[in-house]
Amino acid sequence: MRRFKFIRDPGPDSCGNNVEEFLRWLDGPACIFITGEDSGRTRALVTLLHGNEPSGAMALQRWLKSGQRPAVNVVCVVASVVAALEPPLFSHRMLPRARDLNRCFRPPFDDAQGALAEEILEILRFHHPEAVVDMHNTSGSGPSFGVCTHMDRQHDALVSFFTQRLIVSNLGLGALMELSEASFPTVTVEVGGRLDEQAHELAYEGLCRYFLAATVLDPPDTDWGLELLRDPIRLELNDNVTLTYAEQPSTSYDITLKADIEHHNFGSVGVDTLLGWAGGPERSLFSAQDANGRCAVTRLVRIENGELYPAQALKLFMITNNAAIAESDCLFYAVADDGGVFC
Ligand SMILES: [Zn+2]
Repeated sequence: MRRFKFIRDPGPDSCGNNVEEFLRWLDGPACIFITGEDSGRTRALVTLLHGNEPSGAMALQRWLKSGQRPAVNVVCVVASVVAALEPPLFSHRMLPRARDLNRCFRPPFDDAQGALAEEILEILRFHHPEAVVDMHNTSGSGPSFGVCTHMDRQHDALVSFFTQRLIVSNLGLGALMELSEASFPTVTVEVGGRLDEQAHELAYEGLCRYFLAATVLDPPDTDWGLELLRDPIRLELNDNVTLTYAEQPSTSYDITLKADIEHHNFGSVGVDTLLGWAGGPERSLFSAQDANGRCAVTRLVRIENGELYPAQALKLFMITNNAAIAESDCLFYAVADDGGVFC
């Protein structure tokens, strides 16, 4: 099993000229400690939990190269270096047959990914950071947003270093923030699509603001004007249901979603917005659970004459256009169009 490599205050010339050289230098999961102007406090940045999400590692390499010094100590965890380096670069969310690392932050920690997750938690416990930011990319193109498990002024302020949209959600998936939140204010930041230049740019700008701010949790009395999306529901595929993306219904698949469905990311979809095509009762194809554990499928989607529509006005996000991700994770997240919870 690959164990963490610990690096302290690397010089600007030691960390490679680009992100690929940076990862080859790390050679495996790494913990980089950067001493701050105020060495009595520490913040944490976690990134590359998913090997196909480059923005955080790119931003960190750029920061190290710049030779800047953060306001306080920063402990940076770069996790799935091996998966990221598996050719082609940044194409593997995790290695084949490995579990999704961001679903492993809960016991049992008894396989390689679980051990890696446990070690990340130990690193955080050891450094006791005043805040934790876990930086990700979305698989499809789309705007940035933050996710936290509960909402207060501290999380508001943390997210505002990066984005103006905040999803409040506690789905119990085994994500880092769900466990880490008990000890440190933690937010997940999705800086945008993994192939989007502007996501890389936002990752760097946000990282600089987060590293350089004198305080991250006690800002002056500010209304951050965040757009809040509470308790989203995941629309998942039932086992053995097949899915494709196309401009017309495909008879070889149970469900065809429109190829441009990701354009609805964070937009509102009305009851007449065609999402795709499917046959059969909604519940035979999809599953979805609301915060009370009740089935929410027919509150999300309806099938009419072989066409798939929203069951009510919805706001959709984290829409994927990748069938493998839709099958192993979910098709999208949804809230009622007013951003509120489903009743
Ligand atoms: Zn991710």
